[in-house]
Amino acid sequence: MKVIVCVKQVPDTNEVKIDPVKGTLIREGVPSILNPDDANALEGALALKDKYDDVNVTVLTMGPPQAEDMLRECLAMGADDAIHLSGREFAGGDTWATSNAIAAAINKMGDYDIIFAGRQAIDGDTAQVGPQIAERLGISQVTYVQNFEIDGNELKIQRQLEDGYEVINAKTPILLTAIKELGEPRYMTVKGIYDSFREKEIKVWGFDHLGIENDQVGLKASPTRVHKSFVPQPKGQGVMLEGSVQEMTEKLVVALKQKHLI
Ligand SMILES: Cc1cc2nc3c(=O)[nH]c(=O)nc-3n(C[C@H](O)[C@H](O)[C@H](O)COP(=O)(O)OP(=O)(O)OC[C@H]3O[C@@H](n4cnc5c(N)ncnc54)[C@H](O)[C@@H]3O)c2cc1C
Repeated sequence: MKVIVCVKQVPDTNEVKIDPVKGTLIREGVPSILNPDDANALEGALALKDKYDDVNVTVLTMGPPQAEDMLRECLAMGADDAIHLSGREFAGGDTWATSNAIAAAINKMGDYDIIFAGRQAIDGDTAQVGPQIAERLGISQVTYVQNFEIDGNELKIQRQLEDGYEVINAKTPILLTAIKELGEPRYMTVKGIYDSFREKEIKVWGFDHLGIENDQVGLKASPTRVHKSFVPQPKGQGVMLEGSVQEMTEKLVVALKQKHLI
């Protein structure tokens, strides 16, 4: 079984702070990490590899040269192969152009049974790339996957809803987008780290590898443009209530009612 996991390197948004004076984002020193949902997606793929002998897991990313570190991490967790889509032609793409490039790379890879993506990336936050890749490839997709079983080419998938889940029967080839319930990501092993540097090779593919027109990727292919970005206004100062528990409760209820929150 051939499994592809789309992984994105993202800034750790938990570490991004706002400069209280300038009101701008402080990006210096912010570490880059494997996008959390993608780590869950990779875990879903690696769990298949644990269960069945014939599973090959390839991780695929499109990103700048430093994304290699994240691919090594995925290899050290247990992925078999890694492909890095890299080149200035891809820069500045919105989700349409990003998914075009990734789908073209998957087409070049040829056969696949399951493609995993994360539900969403914590920086762009659109949750569009996974579904768009499936559209480009013309295959089925199920989003918000919390669990699944596979028997031959048939899958029984639990898709999370706000108040429960639904069970969907589907067939490969298919794209699944993962949420955290799909699996707690495993740690890298020491041997895995060693092998990821010494034994495993990351294939770097540029635009010329893909066999598509250059009006399909990058900024000029993007139907959307970020016109302006700005930091949200900080919220007003908090209010400390005083008095007995009874008095504070009353004040709290009045304040919440005034704001139409209850
Ligand atoms: C309107 C708009 C304009 C933009 N313009 C620019 C721009 O000018 N310059 C710029 O640098 N960026 C731009 N971006 C950001 C860029 O589009 C996103 O980084 C990229 O398309 C991925 O979207 P996302 O982060 O929302 O991912 P999501 O759709 O939230 O990601 C879902 C899943 O798709 C997969 N995935 C997403 N991206 C990748 C990737 N690169 N490689 C492998 N797998 C991936 C992962 O599995 C991920 O979990 C723009 C975004 C928008 C919405």
